[in-house]
Amino acid sequence: VTATLFSIAAQAQNPLVSPESQRRAKELLRKMTVDEKVGQLNQSSGIVMPGFVDQKPDDMIAKGEVGSILWLNNTKEINRLQHIAVDQSRLHIPILFAFDVIHGWRTVFPVPLAMASSWDPSVEEAAQKEAGEDARAAGIRWTFTPMVDIARDSRWGRIMEGAGEDPYLGSAMARAQVYGFQGKSLGPDSELVSVKHFAGYGAAEGGRDYDSSYIPEVLMQNVYLKPFHAAEQAGAGNFMSAYMDLNDVPATGNRWLLTDVLRKDWGFQGFVVSDAFAVASLQVHGFAADPADAALKAINAGLNMDMASLTYTHNLAKLVAEGKVSEATLDKAVLPILAIKYQLGLFDHPYVDDTKTDAVLDRPEGLALERKIAARSMVLLRNENHTLPLTTSAKKIAVIGPLADSIHDIEGGWTVEGLFGGPAKSHPVTVLATLKSRYGANAEITFVPGPQLSRVFPSMLDALTGVKQVPPPTEAEKADWINKTKAATADADLVIAVMGEAASMSGEAASQASMALPGIQQEMLETAVASGKPVVLVLENGRPLDITWASEHVPAILEAWYPGTEGGNAVADVLFGDVNPGGKLPVSWARSVGQEPLYYNHNLTHEPEDRPTFTSRYWDVESKPLYVFGYGLSYTSFNFSNLRLSHDHIRASESTEVSVDVTNTGSVAGDAVAELYIHQRAGSASRPVRQLEGFERVTLKPGETQTVKFTLGKDELEFWSPQTKAWGVEPGAFDVWAGGDSKASLNTLLTVTQ
Ligand code: BGC
Repeated sequence: VTATLFSIAAQAQNPLVSPESQRRAKELLRKMTVDEKVGQLNQSSGIVMPGFVDQKPDDMIAKGEVGSILWLNNTKEINRLQHIAVDQSRLHIPILFAFDVIHGWRTVFPVPLAMASSWDPSVEEAAQKEAGEDARAAGIRWTFTPMVDIARDSRWGRIMEGAGEDPYLGSAMARAQVYGFQGKSLGPDSELVSVKHFAGYGAAEGGRDYDSSYIPEVLMQNVYLKPFHAAEQAGAGNFMSAYMDLNDVPATGNRWLLTDVLRKDWGFQGFVVSDAFAVASLQVHGFAADPADAALKAINAGLNMDMASLTYTHNLAKLVAEGKVSEATLDKAVLPILAIKYQLGLFDHPYVDDTKTDAVLDRPEGLALERKIAARSMVLLRNENHTLPLTTSAKKIAVIGPLADSIHDIEGGWTVEGLFGGPAKSHPVTVLATLKSRYGANAEITFVPGPQLSRVFPSMLDALTGVKQVPPPTEAEKADWINKTKAATADADLVIAVMGEAASMSGEAASQASMALPGIQQEMLETAVASGKPVVLVLENGRPLDITWASEHVPAILEAWYPGTEGGNAVADVLFGDVNPGGKLPVSWARSVGQEPLYYNHNLTHEPEDRPTFTSRYWDVESKPLYVFGYGLSYTSFNFSNLRLSHDHIRASESTEVSVDVTNTGSVAGDAVAELYIHQRAGSASRPVRQLEGFERVTLKPGETQTVKFTLGKDELEFWSPQTKAWGVEPGAFDVWAGGDSKASLNTLLTVTQ
């Protein structure tokens, strides 16, 4: 079975750091003053940000007051600051440089939600391995990735940065990213990860970023914490505490999260950094009385490092002198940071060879990998009458939409070189550019971009960096664009619309209350369809959008997400059938924003046919999603059959093997994803109507059948019961389904006895 595209690294090693790193860290700690210890707990900004950060960290570094630096993507500057630390500070402790390397450096991979759509963890692992190598070549040894927040509400803009709504898929993608960045164990070739945002950040009320989350422990355990635990077990060396309040206790001062769950229950050996300025924010949250109280509450909750707020720097030494924080607590916070610095080999090799950086960042094999991964991450949502794949026979093509030729948007948010207003040095390939080269001189391509997309309220980064908002188009401008669309499409024999969201409309602080296609894209699309010509809609976006109209009127829809540097080429690979799409949705796609939060693994059926009375349906809009979790089409078709269990009666301590046959019933090779779902019929608590407990992506030739096997045992069958307040497998009957999406109907029954 060819399950994955790339090879998967081995399992995590325990312990996190070697005895030698631990010994050296302890020895160093004994030599440190309280001020120097506090210094290691401070992560300073490497750049000046008016209003937030007033000065460069040079003087503080020389005094041993800086343990880590973030937001610096300039290799020469990194070496310069490292020299200050190593040459001038009393104990010569090197700085750990950190950056948000979320989906690549100069070669930008698809956004994480896209990579999760591959349903192939080796995709994440390969991309993040490459991204980690790039980061190290640029002097960054620590990335604030992976974001493993479960997101059940598409209004939340950061849904784009994670793996979607499902804890099983999310855990697989979390592990893969840890292995990709850190390798099988932490060492000199590792990029340290930061598993974020611990925890519950994706459940912000109303999808409003940073807003409070109210999540009962039963949901924390069974859903939200799962990918975090998976990342921890994969050997993650760092966690990041979230911004928001969890059940009224801010995550950054939440002892239950940072100490009881993370360290006591899971045995985490690494360190926790706050989110940016989050320690200072404890006061804004109405949780800390003043900065000293914020520092006190954070360190006593179990937070090691203060990101950017300098609250530890200004208060911790005094709190120790006053006896409010014990020196033992301080030591416990510092030790894992030092041990990880030793483990990463930072003391032996503190500098980066900046003469080699560009050669690594510009590796052509990186682009080839990106193109493959982008194509593998796309989801074909609709394809009536075999509209796709395209041939190059069209002679007149109308390309419409503001994203068709936008190099600023195709890579999505969180690009390293474009982050702080810096010009992206990569040259992403747009869909228009690639179509021009595919069709060549034989065809005529007319391009109607429509008005540039712009937010109603500016993004945080635009506000910080002073970027001006594009004003919305006037009525006359709108009419003009519609006329141009009409003219171009009437005259064409094929229309390719590239639409969705600008990169700044998804991501941090990019919550939205409407799912509508922004700007006049909907009107342009309707104009194109009215021409009667075949229309292909390619979506570039970071979350589900309202495409209910398109799902009925546009014959072909390809979800490309933000596909990255080679995005245009990858889109063309799929449109022309060089790659047969096999991605699946990692989120339930709503019909209307009023359905949010929307997710498949809820407890009671929403189907009126299954629950004719007391139905939870809306009276005005169907309860079903437009596209269900796990859905995605192919240019071929698949049949699932012969679902069987090696044992249909097992004890709670045993496991059974599930097999299902997958057959390619079409005429071209393609990828199917075999998805396994279960449901426990009764127990000490209600259980989800379905939950994913296995998946595998397989490549099948026409007519070929493969048997995919899964295991159902303790890990898959157990749940955390709110009655027993413990994990366990409860005896009972389990429905088991296998198929190509979360509505799979092929089923069998497993009975578990005591
Ligand atoms: C985000 C984090 C990010 C950090 C550092 C914060 O605003 O929430 O995800 O890692 O900034 O850039």
